[in-house]
Amino acid sequence: MNIIREAGKVYFIAALVSLGFLVLGVLFIFYTWNLNKRDTADSIIQAVVQLSTALDMRIRGEFAVLDVAADSLAGEDMADHDAVLSRLFPLFRHNTYTGIGLVSGNGEVAWVDKNGLRHYTALLAGSAVNRAFKGEHVLTNPIWSENSSLMVNYYLVPVYQNGSVVAVFFAADPEDELRKDAEHFLYAGKGLAHIIDRDGNYVVRSNSPLRPEGVNNIFEVNPGAIRYYKALILDDLSNGRTGYLEWNVYRQDRIAAYAPLSVNNWSVFYAVPVEQINAGPGIVTKGAVIIIAAAMAIFVIFVFMIRKINNKSRKVLEILAFEDSLTGVRNFQKLMIDAKKLLSEPNGNVYSVWYSDINGFRYVNDLFGRDVGDRLLRHWANYLEKNIDSDEMFGRMGADVFVSLRKYASREEMDERFQKEARMFETFREVTSDKFRVKLRTGVYLPCPEDGRLSLEDKLDRAKEAHKHAKKISDRFQIALYSAEMRDRRLKDTEMESKMNSALAGNEFKVYLQPKIDIQNGGHVMGMEALVRWISPEKGLIPPAEFIPLFENNGFIVNLDRYVFETACKEYGQYLLEDSITLSPPFMVLSVNVSKLSLSQPDFIDEYTIIKKRYGIPDGCVELEFTETLLLNNELHLQQVLEKAHENGFLCSLDDFGAGYSSLNVLKTLKVDVLKLDRMFFHNIDNYEYGWELVKCVISTAKVMGMKTVAEGIDVEDYVNCLRQIDCDAVQGYVFARPMPMAEFRQFAKDWHWTPSAVSGACNKILR
Ligand code: C2E
Ligand code: MG
Ligand code: MG
Repeated sequence: MNIIREAGKVYFIAALVSLGFLVLGVLFIFYTWNLNKRDTADSIIQAVVQLSTALDMRIRGEFAVLDVAADSLAGEDMADHDAVLSRLFPLFRHNTYTGIGLVSGNGEVAWVDKNGLRHYTALLAGSAVNRAFKGEHVLTNPIWSENSSLMVNYYLVPVYQNGSVVAVFFAADPEDELRKDAEHFLYAGKGLAHIIDRDGNYVVRSNSPLRPEGVNNIFEVNPGAIRYYKALILDDLSNGRTGYLEWNVYRQDRIAAYAPLSVNNWSVFYAVPVEQINAGPGIVTKGAVIIIAAAMAIFVIFVFMIRKINNKSRKVLEILAFEDSLTGVRNFQKLMIDAKKLLSEPNGNVYSVWYSDINGFRYVNDLFGRDVGDRLLRHWANYLEKNIDSDEMFGRMGADVFVSLRKYASREEMDERFQKEARMFETFREVTSDKFRVKLRTGVYLPCPEDGRLSLEDKLDRAKEAHKHAKKISDRFQIALYSAEMRDRRLKDTEMESKMNSALAGNEFKVYLQPKIDIQNGGHVMGMEALVRWISPEKGLIPPAEFIPLFENNGFIVNLDRYVFETACKEYGQYLLEDSITLSPPFMVLSVNVSKLSLSQPDFIDEYTIIKKRYGIPDGCVELEFTETLLLNNELHLQQVLEKAHENGFLCSLDDFGAGYSSLNVLKTLKVDVLKLDRMFFHNIDNYEYGWELVKCVISTAKVMGMKTVAEGIDVEDYVNCLRQIDCDAVQGYVFARPMPMAEFRQFAKDWHWTPSAVSGACNKILR
């Protein structure tokens, strides 16, 4: 789950980073585009200023030519038109004029065209002539000339004689000349240039194919777009300022600029399509956009590819992590995940938890081979696959254990289901033997209101506990429900667990001693076993069988063992050592029990040695009792511990010998000083023909191997005599004394004497 969340985070960061790049890219493009536009605007303004300067120079040049000509008329009689026109006629040679002429003081007009024909018609507006008479240089708007069939501009200059204007001299120049000049200076030959007046009306219109048709004023071109700037532009035009604007003409973005001319409040208006100017930078921008888009696309593709690969490998990992490789069904981890989900769904079902295994599976493997064992498990998995409903669930926990969550309706239905499943094992053909049957064994946990809300793990624990009981059922069908007793046990355990620490601190654990009586040499007390008791203020005396298994499970036994050992040593050092010397040399041996967990503590013997020395106990006075169950998978470790214990002056005994799956074989490897025969040996011993023979045999074997023997749990006097006869060294049992507190024990030891009685009863048999 975490991995998936992590991956999500990585994708999120990747998306964020790429979004960041995209935004930066767009900002960059926008920035360069703007920068570029500003550059363009600058260069367009520069161009229009150059253009206006060029046109001004041309206009001034025209006036200069006319001024020179006017000056040359200083001595002429202005009334003699023919003479004056003849003098001026050579001007046609070097100029593009279509006509030149004179307006004399009395208002008479005479002019000549370039073919030399004289005309005497008025051509010019009075206002222009008047201005010239006042000494101004005047340039008119283009006017249609019939004579030349052209639009022409008239240049008018005053003619001075004796300091006053006597006539006005004028020349008609085709409008095209101005236009040509305007367009000649266009920025890189691109765009269009008009000459406009202060109101934005065209004076000289560009001939460029870009020019807008059907309009006479710059503001008539896309008036919507220019609306907001119109007043500003008009103000610029009236006041002879340079300006700049962007607008859209014929759906084409254009940049335009205007600059004033020195005559008539005219301006040059120059416009270029943006794409023309921006072609270079535009390509860069476009390129950048394409590169960014491509990079983004590649990035997205990569992310998708990685996702795909990830998904694939996740699936493989899921199979590896969640599938049982042998049967292909859910493994335990996956079962726990899915089952928790199932239990959290409000589907109205009551689920029981089944913990099942196969009784005798080990023998299937041993007798028929692992392959058959594997096939049996697969067979079972197949069966479950078919017989577990879609709203139920199962999985293999490992080895031959399957756990399932099944809907619970009634006990009958559950039993029926179990029996059907159990019969399936009987039909597994590969395991056919008269010697044993493969049997299904199941512990079931059923939810119960008293349990409150239990976790799945707790429910499973309870099913396991029930399974332990199922093992004890010898019936054909081994199924057990988690019971009220088990519930009580758990409650007690929980209570004890909550109190154990304070009980230890509050000295509620007491050490009792049970004597071991030497039945061979005068019946003296040869030693005593320290046995713990919990004297609870609320519950009274709690026997070890109640709490030792719990403490072995939760680890508290290590603390308790140490405590018992230390307390026993302390009391032994204080009282018994002395008593021992006075009462019954050699020393009474104090024996203490060592649990499996204490044994596995790495510094166990070192610690115990320190304690033993602290209370001044000589070597050979303390015996450590190890139970047979410690041997399981632990033989080598136990051997090493025994060796170290001996080196440090401890005696060692093997406790409860014969209670479990004992094997005489262990005696071969374990060097113990004492063998304690479990009371199971003597349980109903008289009912067995060879019961005593067996005990005799074990005792003599132990003897041969140099071990002493102690018979435990003897509560029949006859047995003591029998044991004496078959050479058992000592007896520890109720027949002599129950475990008792130290003070009582001291008294007991002082008062103790024993005389063996005559042999009688069942054990006579073996003594024959
Ligand atoms: P164990 O070490 O085998 O101790 C002998 C048990 O047999 C004692 O039970 C003792 O009271 C009982 N017993 C002795 N004679 C007779 C008899 O004639 N008839 C019957 N029915 N029982 C007899 P106890 O004291 O209840 O202890 C039970 C077990 O608890 C011990 O078995 C030992 O395994 C464990 N235990 C006791 N104290 C400690 C301890 O301090 N540490 C550890 N690790 N285990 C302890
Ligand atoms: Mg013991
Ligand atoms: Mg024992």
